[in-house]
Amino acid sequence: MLRVAVVGSGPSGVYTAQSLVEQSAVPGVHVHVLDRLPCPYGLVRYGVAPDHEKIKSLQNNLRAVLEHERVSFVGGVEVGKGALTPARLLGLYHAVVYCVGAAKDRRLGIPGEELAGSCSATDFVSWYSAHPDAASNGFALGARSAVVVGVGNVAVDVARILARGAQELLPTDVPQAALGALAGSQVREVHMVGRRGPSQARFTTKELRELGSLPDADATVDGPELALDPAFADPSGLLAVNRRNVAVLREWAQAPPPQGHSRSIRLRFFLRPVEVLGDGGRVSGVRFERTVPDGHGGVRPTGGYEDIEAQLVLRAVGYRGAPPAGLPFDPASGTVPHEAGRMLREGAQAPGEYVAGWIKRGPTGVIGTNRPCAKETVASLLADASFLVQRRPADDPLDAMRKLGLRPVEWPGWLAIEAAEADLGISLGRRSVKIPDWAGLLGAAYGDTSLQHP
Ligand code: NAP
Repeated sequence: MLRVAVVGSGPSGVYTAQSLVEQSAVPGVHVHVLDRLPCPYGLVRYGVAPDHEKIKSLQNNLRAVLEHERVSFVGGVEVGKGALTPARLLGLYHAVVYCVGAAKDRRLGIPGEELAGSCSATDFVSWYSAHPDAASNGFALGARSAVVVGVGNVAVDVARILARGAQELLPTDVPQAALGALAGSQVREVHMVGRRGPSQARFTTKELRELGSLPDADATVDGPELALDPAFADPSGLLAVNRRNVAVLREWAQAPPPQGHSRSIRLRFFLRPVEVLGDGGRVSGVRFERTVPDGHGGVRPTGGYEDIEAQLVLRAVGYRGAPPAGLPFDPASGTVPHEAGRMLREGAQAPGEYVAGWIKRGPTGVIGTNRPCAKETVASLLADASFLVQRRPADDPLDAMRKLGLRPVEWPGWLAIEAAEADLGISLGRRSVKIPDWAGLLGAAYGDTSLQHP
């Protein structure tokens, strides 16, 4: 029997567990899926926007894996913090697979980025997703105009949430405080700005289209700006997703989606942010330098500038892997070095240690991209099985963790959180509503309301 710990219960961790228990080459593999949070599902719970019900429903598939007879969820344990070092964890299992994602956001590195009102989109996402580590209500929703820097799917998510009325979010599981703050939002204009052209935007077409069909927001594009992009006139050489994006934007330029709503989302291109402008310590706008295509997929500066007025700036320029305590890390790529998922320490394979997901390949791709990524890692692990079974793990890893002072949240604890969130929803006259703080989550998980985060 092979006992494996998977660290991280987001899609890459759960797909890794699934690949391990659904294969037949090495029968009887048992998996513990660990998470520092008492809740499973990673970015599906704490990243997918609350109004994306269909993607959220992926939780049901992930749940089925975590309920498999040879898989156990072990929440509330943080590897690399306190006594549970990676070395100690490896002593408890035959193998460990790290699926810890990319925990940080990228910075713009321009003056004014730290001004009040300038935030990372990932912090905003964490807040409306009820992540227990999220900053509470610090977002400048009194702003009339917001700039979202970046044209990826996170930029689309935050632009859409800003442009939706609270009524539209009421049927979702968005936490009550965030719903109240969004209900009071004064934001009327959202400018979503890309430094390159429309044919290089990173959003996917379904997400783009959705911006054109919001109940109370206009979506607009700037025709001459689109025309600057040579691939816009002839998209035949583009990847399918970029071709589809161009087709939608061309439609919008020719026949804009219905207008006259109370909010607007304006898509802008060929504008490179050079400074977040301030007034009295608060954001007052963003200065952009106009760019033009350089003929090789990039852009070159023109020396011409444009200021967009804004009192709220969200930078949505990508996630970045954070160095996991006790693991090797390549700061340039923000990933843990590996070979086909086998972790490399100082260039040599680290026996028994593996990686999958964003910490292995960087923060790219959609949720499904994690499946083949997990499979590759699991194939490597299984190929090493005859060596791994010679290791001597602890008889009862959870018992060993408790002896280290940890208090794991097992599946019934998570079910208790789910039940508490359903009750909270009923008490508020809403559907299930997420609990946004450690005390509430752990109190529900342990059945003890006096608890705080350890
Ligand atoms: P992303 O797809 O990498 O997009 C980042 C955007 O930021 C790009 O437009 C990029 O422009 C721009 N950017 C980067 N550095 C910049 C700078 N210094 N100045 C100005 N712009 C800059 O990242 P993301 O939106 O965070 O998404 C991360 C991953 O999660 C993606 O794979 C995404 O598809 C996925 N995701 C999916 C969904 C969904 O399926 N609904 C939702 C959310 C996230 P360049 O292209 O010029 O670098």
